[in-house]
Amino acid sequence: ATPTAVTVGLGRGAAIGVLVRNGDALEAAEKVTTVVFDKTGTLTVGRPEVTAVIATAGDAARESLLAMAAAVELNSQHPLAGAVIRAAEKAGAPLPKSTGFTSSSGRGASALIDGRTVLVGSGGYLDELGVEADLALVAQAASHQQAGETVVMVAVDGQMAGLIAIADVLKPSAPPAVAALKKSGRRVVMLTGDARVTAEAVAGRAGIDLVIAGVLPDQKAAEVKRLQQQGEVVAFVGDGINDAPALAQADVGIAIGSGTDVAVETGSIVLMHEDLLGVVAALQLSAKVMQRIR
Ligand code: ADP
Ligand code: MG
Repeated sequence: ATPTAVTVGLGRGAAIGVLVRNGDALEAAEKVTTVVFDKTGTLTVGRPEVTAVIATAGDAARESLLAMAAAVELNSQHPLAGAVIRAAEKAGAPLPKSTGFTSSSGRGASALIDGRTVLVGSGGYLDELGVEADLALVAQAASHQQAGETVVMVAVDGQMAGLIAIADVLKPSAPPAVAALKKSGRRVVMLTGDARVTAEAVAGRAGIDLVIAGVLPDQKAAEVKRLQQQGEVVAFVGDGINDAPALAQADVGIAIGSGTDVAVETGSIVLMHEDLLGVVAALQLSAKVMQRIR
């Protein structure tokens, strides 16, 4: 390889906010055949907001349901937790005291409130813990999920108590970035821990037609590996929340610089801006530099 062309390429990238770690990363980017995107905080802006609170006990119970859920989430680092806490603060109800906090990455969290066990998390998480589904609630969950919202279920002492719907808007740059990647002949995939219905609604808006949903954090890297075993050269784009191992497993890990420190450390390419067109720019830059070298 001609070091000069690589150096110039790395400099060009830096000038537009695309930090390529080294010449190897620059060389690999050109060969990418599949670009895998994380959903939350990568395709979406990562500032989730509560849009609905539904209590099985009726509307009068909504405020206390939200306050209980927030009391559980106080100890959780997940972006969804922040949305629940902000909504409860806005509603003004005092948060009850919670103890005995536990959390399960990519599933949810639990705590003891007034001697009762409160669970907040995905349908799958509550199901694993033996909470029986509530048919009316499942139907309401589905209608929010079809709108692309994430649904968090709440259970008290093993009984379904309600749900909280949370919306996170798509980045404006997602559709044009996906369109450009497809036009370059690459496969575009969404990989998320969220429910399939929600994931497909968001993917539809972004123009992504391949969705891998309901994937637990420790399985995201395995999904990337599976694509590689099918002969794909994979770029994974993520913000590092639950997806640092996938960033590391990919042939090219592209970290959103506004994401976590671990993402920035793990990514072979770091995008300094939230703009997903940076992914397109990185792959184009690689192609240009490699052309020059040949
Ligand atoms: P993503 O792949 O979109 O980043 P995650 O793997 O982080 O999603 O989370 C998957 C799902 O697990 C969420 O959609 C939510 O239903 C549930 N979940 C995870 N953490 C929490 C939490 N702290 N509170 C409530 N629900 C949670
Ligand atoms: Mg994420």
